[in-house]
Amino acid sequence: MIRVAVNGYGTIGKRVAEAVMLQPDMQLIGVGKTSPNAEAIVAQRKGIRIFAPEDSVKKFEESGIRVEGSIQDMVKLADVVVDATPNGVGAEYKPLYESQGKRAVFQGGEKPNVAEVSFSSLCNYDEGIGRKYIRVVSCNTTALLRTICTLSKVGKVEKVRATIIRRAADPKEIKRGPINSLVLDPASVPSHHAKDVNTVLKDLNIITTAVIAPTTLMHVHSLNVTFKEKVSKEDVINVLLNTPRLVMVSSKSKVSSTAEVIETARDLGRARNDIKEVVVFEDSVYVNGNELILTYAVHQESIVVPENVDAIRAMHGIPAEESISTTNKTLGIIGGYLI
Ligand code: NAD
Repeated sequence: MIRVAVNGYGTIGKRVAEAVMLQPDMQLIGVGKTSPNAEAIVAQRKGIRIFAPEDSVKKFEESGIRVEGSIQDMVKLADVVVDATPNGVGAEYKPLYESQGKRAVFQGGEKPNVAEVSFSSLCNYDEGIGRKYIRVVSCNTTALLRTICTLSKVGKVEKVRATIIRRAADPKEIKRGPINSLVLDPASVPSHHAKDVNTVLKDLNIITTAVIAPTTLMHVHSLNVTFKEKVSKEDVINVLLNTPRLVMVSSKSKVSSTAEVIETARDLGRARNDIKEVVVFEDSVYVNGNELILTYAVHQESIVVPENVDAIRAMHGIPAEESISTTNKTLGIIGGYLI
């Protein structure tokens, strides 16, 4: 059993913690929380052990939430810490993980140099084998990498251009905007996503731009891939349909929006409406010689969860195929048509 602690129990942390609880070879030691909010109350109801910074323990006790110990105590009990604290806070925690000789998985909001390797299961799982520190790339980068590495089975990729329509905030965030505007991401050409893809696929010719949209449901990417040689639409569709962690929304379903994709997830009974797969719209797939254009949606709150679970196994020397298939099975991740 790999003993896992999750530090930072927000959008990503709570999903990773629950995913860890579903793994046959992992045990969740507990989660690190800084404030006794609704998420802490729910965690307690779910039987998850809560650890807090020493100076916050009183706050938790006043709220009637039992604290098992400090964050330091939690780290001591774990083999690996998944750090899901806000952007940049993970780097501040790294000295604690290092001082206790613990492995750590960081998130995409950290700078790449926080870890030995940036990680994407379908692209470079093997580079994570035996590592002490791994960074799982962001939601947008995870989707780009999964899709590009899958498409590279159809033909050699010459270059990638992508426009990223980013959700403005996660559904729970009440203080972020815009609420009535499309906003050019200030650092948008090239946006940081391309650079982040290059932390994994070092030699890929990729340029991305980004626009922030007033929605909380999902991101959407419009992807343009140029291959070295002609490709067929049939081969593209086949490889997309045959790779778990990518799903297709069929032409027949007439689904053409993120709202309908999320509604489908609700109707399918997916917990929290989560869709951990990249969701490719079949109608958007267009091939012209060696050029491919397609559009897919990305559920930002959950897409990186399977990669976090795989990163833990890669660190412990477990082979890619074994980890990816266990993760897919336990988390209900599919391939083929979502609808
Ligand atoms: P979040 O704000 O939802 O959750 C962060 C949690 O960490 C909160 O519960 C917060 O209270 C807690 N926290 C804050 N300071 C802390 C501290 N000093 N010690 C312990 N806990 C602390 O953030 P999130 O969206 O889950 O993002 C976490 C990481 O995941 C970031 O690196 C982010 O870039 C990355 N990420 C986010 C998304 C997304 O769409 N939300 C997707 C992929 C990756």
